[in-house]
Amino acid sequence: MSMPVRTEAGAEVRSPLAAEIERRRTFAIISHPDAGKTTLTEKLLLFGGAIQLAGQVKAKRNRKTTQSDWMAIEKERGISVVTSVMTFEYGDHVFNLLDTPGHEDFSEDTYRTLTAVDSAVMVIDAAKGIEARTRKLFEVCRMRDIPILTFINKMDRETRDPFDLLDEIEKTLALDTTPVNWPVGRGRDFTGTIEVQSGGVRLLEGDAGKAGTLREMSILEVAALNPSLDASAIEGEFELVREACKPFDLQAFREGHLSPVFFGSALKNFGVGDLLDALGRFAPPPRDQKADKRVVHAEEPRMSAFVFKIQANMDPNHRDRIAFARLCSGKLTRGMKVKQIRTGKSIALNAPQFFFAKDRSVADEAYAGDVVGIPNHGSVRIGDTLTEGEDLNFVGVPSFAPEILRRVRLPDAMKAKKLKEALQQLAEEGVVQVFRPHDGSPALVGVVGPLQLDVLRVRLMDEYGLEVSWDVSEFTLARWISSDDPKTFDTFVRSNSSSVADDLDGDPVFLARNQFNLDYTRERAPGIAFADIKDVK
Ligand code: GDP
Repeated sequence: MSMPVRTEAGAEVRSPLAAEIERRRTFAIISHPDAGKTTLTEKLLLFGGAIQLAGQVKAKRNRKTTQSDWMAIEKERGISVVTSVMTFEYGDHVFNLLDTPGHEDFSEDTYRTLTAVDSAVMVIDAAKGIEARTRKLFEVCRMRDIPILTFINKMDRETRDPFDLLDEIEKTLALDTTPVNWPVGRGRDFTGTIEVQSGGVRLLEGDAGKAGTLREMSILEVAALNPSLDASAIEGEFELVREACKPFDLQAFREGHLSPVFFGSALKNFGVGDLLDALGRFAPPPRDQKADKRVVHAEEPRMSAFVFKIQANMDPNHRDRIAFARLCSGKLTRGMKVKQIRTGKSIALNAPQFFFAKDRSVADEAYAGDVVGIPNHGSVRIGDTLTEGEDLNFVGVPSFAPEILRRVRLPDAMKAKKLKEALQQLAEEGVVQVFRPHDGSPALVGVVGPLQLDVLRVRLMDEYGLEVSWDVSEFTLARWISSDDPKTFDTFVRSNSSSVADDLDGDPVFLARNQFNLDYTRERAPGIAFADIKDVK
């Protein structure tokens, strides 16, 4: 992609590299299922010209997520793959929208994806307010101080009181809010919005909502459009908004303390343009990234990246895999050689890819903030750092202790070796965690949600011809163990050998039968740290 050098109005052009990086906006949408994430994604892509018609984003439409639906989607890999990241241009900006799985059983994937974004859009159903999954995902964003823009969706339906919704965000998330626009009427009477700052009005008509249709109208004129609206009530409410709501503060937003709020309707494409403009204007360009040895700045000339997601079997005939890498600094050019820090090996990036709504194409150039797909046959793993040579590892791509542990039962013992290989590959892809007990007993698999076990079983069957079932394990919890003192550690591992296993990377975990067993062991092993989150290196 060769693009003209531009910056935000008034910004100084420092270098072509800096200007390219500064116009990147890499974000995700967080929401509870059904709030409208898919619909909003479609509309955002429409603005970006990435798709011609809304409705093409995914086969997710009917996914209301029964098991069989999910399995079907998993099989339609072409579809789920193109939605992992969607790159589009709008105005002066390049947007990378990272998609996250809808079902909470795949939340680990979502958490890892959130390590690769610089901001997030929180979509809230105006009739429901903050729901469980929104809250959880918000907490993950907060851990990294990711700035959040809020889109209160479905204003064309019956909604809760807007003040009430803002109040709920402030109280339950401890997040300040600033409404950017304010709804006039709700549900059937939803007529449009007023911009709080300028007083400009947008009317809900046809394809309105797109930037440019801001009108100068008085509240009386707006109210006159709809006989069921009460002009003086609207005036009073708007007065209150102006008096009571905090002004927008860019710094507080970028630090993750304050969220600009947009009222709109994704379905009616209303308010979506404002949201996209705000992402361009307010959301931060690629942030600095923490590595073990130092902090890496986006505008450093040398390329660095980390892998946060692996997607396998884009083409089932060749067991190929795409590793999704977030560029943290510099510029990637096609054909460049990078160092994979974990192995010390050099990898040639001969066919890095960009993803659009429906297509992918070879990326000749990519910049910090961009996400590129790197085809490979299993050599690249989640958490891998790639650099132009410098030895450093980005920190913070997490592994989470599984909530469910199962022993794999393989009726055909002749296939044990194949199973081992298959589990290794699927674990590298992040589909499942595998733990190999020190005492030589069969491997355990660990997942966050039961749906993952179904996907695993089907994939073992379809891709490896392995028929497996799950046995309940005597263990229910796994914790990564470590100690500052190698001797203490060795003693612990030796005296608990039947409860210690190695994970994919050879890092030891303690397997506990239950919470009591874990607490009991922990109390009696003062020099040992038990962790339920591991940073993947
Ligand atoms: P997701 O589960 O968050 O991806 O939600 P979807 O985008 O699939 O939307 C869930 C349902 O809400 C679908 O039936 C959408 O058509 C509907 N929907 C989404 N946005 C709006 C909106 O702004 N207004 C109305 N009335 N319905 C909406």
